[in-house]
Amino acid sequence: MSETTLPIDAPIADAEPAATQATPLRTDVLIIGAGPVGLFAAFEAGVIGLSCHIVDALNEVGGQCIELYPEKPIFDIPAVPVCTARELVERLTEQCRPFGFPIHLGQQVRNVEQRADDKRWTVVTDQGLAFDAAAILLSAGNGAFVPQRIALDEAPALEGRHVHYAVRKVAAFAGQRVMVAGGGDSALDWALALRDVARHVTLVHRRDAFRAADATVQEVKRAAAAGELDIVIGTIAALNAPGGALESVDVKRIGGAVTLPADHLIALYGLVADLGPIGDWGLDIRAGRVTVDTSGYESSRPGIFAVGDIAGYPNKQKLILSGFHEASLALRKAYGYAYPDKKRVHVHSSYDAKLSARILGAEAPAADLPEN
Ligand SMILES: Cc1cc2nc3c(=O)[nH]c(=O)nc-3n(C[C@H](O)[C@H](O)[C@H](O)COP(=O)(O)OP(=O)(O)OC[C@H]3O[C@@H](n4cnc5c(N)ncnc54)[C@H](O)[C@@H]3O)c2cc1C
Repeated sequence: MSETTLPIDAPIADAEPAATQATPLRTDVLIIGAGPVGLFAAFEAGVIGLSCHIVDALNEVGGQCIELYPEKPIFDIPAVPVCTARELVERLTEQCRPFGFPIHLGQQVRNVEQRADDKRWTVVTDQGLAFDAAAILLSAGNGAFVPQRIALDEAPALEGRHVHYAVRKVAAFAGQRVMVAGGGDSALDWALALRDVARHVTLVHRRDAFRAADATVQEVKRAAAAGELDIVIGTIAALNAPGGALESVDVKRIGGAVTLPADHLIALYGLVADLGPIGDWGLDIRAGRVTVDTSGYESSRPGIFAVGDIAGYPNKQKLILSGFHEASLALRKAYGYAYPDKKRVHVHSSYDAKLSARILGAEAPAADLPEN
């Protein structure tokens, strides 16, 4: 899934069944959520000698910073007077790059189970990826960003076959009558792209103004004027699938409803955050936050840690720098689950020869290393 290059607002979690892989990927820590806190946690894991894998439901790292405010300046990151949210994510990605930890994108974690014998965790994503982890670090923010779905009773039964929240294979729409719903970059980009393969493309949006890049809006209008696609201003009111296959869609317009033929409806309304399956993992969750003990940011289930926006404790501040601190402490406690027989030695990064070699690519002097 990680090779997908959809626009930033593209929904990614389409309902595709996936078989679970036979041999789970073994790791010390599984980081769930590649927002700013998850990315920094990966760096910290590397610093203290833990291996990790990172998963995120999105097709891009950065969490809220990338999804909600990529171009806004941030002023309260220590030692960085100002940078945009996107620059922060780029710097965090750069910071953890020397460790080469795998980042699995487009994977929403669904199931978490603890094995009775060795107390390790088996974690499975919606795409069938499986992990075997000594500890889990939840840096899942407000939950996974998932597509805003169509609020019609008939939609779920058609999902994945005739109703879609992402375009995974363009070829699946070859020769089909496709309706694309939405007014952002994703909807417009896909409406334009599908012109080349579909029998007919209709773009449906609730108002006559689009939220996409100017050039894209102009191209869509030009394509409509040239008869390459239709634009209909209105809202989806009903999906007509008498034999279980979509045949047409009722669209409510100001001048009255219209029924338009369609084999596929691709709804690209944007993303909403959803705690989703995390709510079923037996954690103490209050007001959408995972309750943690602030001595190590461990949840009510030993071995599962929660940091960043998803962590709940008295006086919690939903700030990136709070998440950095929480991740640092949580991983030091998580070390004990991965290496119960080892004593972790605290070393300042400035005195860590191995770390220096890894990051700077040269062996630093090993002398003077304090063992505090
Ligand atoms: C407009 C705006 C401006 C802000 N400005 C600032 C600021 O100036 N300074 C500041 O410190 N903070 C700011 N914040 C808050 C800051 O963005 C958050 O505190 C921060 O993003 C939290 O990081 P996180 O890594 O904990 O979670 P997130 O950034 O929310 O990332 C969580 C990630 O986890 C993934 N995920 C969730 N569940 C699953 C699952 N089951 N499987 C796989 N992946 C999953 C999500 O897809 C997401 O990518 C701002 C927030 C907003 C909305």
